[in-house]
Amino acid sequence: MTSTSEHIPGSAGVSPASPPEYDRALARAEAGERLERREIASLIGCAAGQERLLAAADRVRQRALGPAVHLRALVEFSNHCRQDCAYCGLRAGNATLPRYRMAPQQVVDTALAAARLGYGTCVLQSGEDPAYDAQTVAGIVRAIKAQSEMAVTLSLGERPEADYAAWREAGADRYLLKIETTDPALFARLRPGRTLQQRVACLQALGRLGYQVGSGFMVGLPAQSLDSLAGDLAFLRDLPCHMAGIGPFIPHPQTPLAGEPSGDLDLVLRCLAVARLLLPPAHLAATTASATLHPQGRQRALAAGADVIMPNVTPEHYRVHYEIYPGKIAPRGDMPSYRRQIEALIVGEGRTVGQGRGDYGG
Ligand code: SAH
Ligand code: SF4
Repeated sequence: MTSTSEHIPGSAGVSPASPPEYDRALARAEAGERLERREIASLIGCAAGQERLLAAADRVRQRALGPAVHLRALVEFSNHCRQDCAYCGLRAGNATLPRYRMAPQQVVDTALAAARLGYGTCVLQSGEDPAYDAQTVAGIVRAIKAQSEMAVTLSLGERPEADYAAWREAGADRYLLKIETTDPALFARLRPGRTLQQRVACLQALGRLGYQVGSGFMVGLPAQSLDSLAGDLAFLRDLPCHMAGIGPFIPHPQTPLAGEPSGDLDLVLRCLAVARLLLPPAHLAATTASATLHPQGRQRALAAGADVIMPNVTPEHYRVHYEIYPGKIAPRGDMPSYRRQIEALIVGEGRTVGQGRGDYGG
């Protein structure tokens, strides 16, 4: 068996064989027992056990949440960013990217158009863009809440606790902030000037303020080991998070990680499946990055424990410039026809389209 700390590019050191402790770890996980970090590493590291692991996650998802797949309408309202994350195409240092900001009223109108199509949640996401100050964002949240029944999820990166508090006060329900990696050295290398501790503090503040908290991480970052991924999964469990996004790293040509390989979809699926076993009631996304890596990426994630899809509703002339990674799959057709396509995908997988807001525990 390959050591859990040995690194194979994109695959984090996967073992082809099913070691003897594997069966015990899988049974313990499905029974809801608390796994050790090395047991988590053994589950995600074993390619031979994948079919059984994914089937167990699918059973746990069905028992905890049923067949519903919740749709969250994603509005990418600004691609300006003050951070310089080594993995991301929106990084401040990428001078080749045309930058945009949607006007606050346009953000509200886009979210309300999604509400009229039946979306129960909108996700407002951006780079870390101080031009949207606390009051501007609070105003957007208030306007959406006043004119729809939608849950509002924010994903604007790291901000002072006072900003998070103002947005919660304005009616924001949820916040997405991926931890990205829990390896402190890797984190510091990939997010210059920021520390893992600061990001954890943001997640804790969001929890204290009563947000439903979403986190997650990328799979296949350079020098990321299986043990490190196991630490990421244990972190999500112990936070605990109400939602998570786990997707492959995809290299962007205008970043320092341009020459690195993409993450491995099978390893992503095993991480997702273990997240489902560790957090049965959490909402787990079939990520756009998984769909970008593989034409069946979303369908395969739905069969591995996922119960959320985030269709992109950003107006097209902006969306093309929200290039976190290249080749991001694009909606075909207008907002209503894209929703119909996603609904058909869900039904095609034997699942149902979630109704209402799709809250945690709701
Ligand atoms: N600025 C905010 C939200 C936008 S970035 C933030 O950083 O939290 C949203 C997510 O895109 C990040 O959390 C990260 O996990 C993901 N991402 C960035 N670059 C990526 C890449 N090259 N491949 C895959 N996912 C990436
Ligand atoms: Fe900015 Fe988020 Fe990209 Fe980092 S991951 S550069 S914070 S948009």
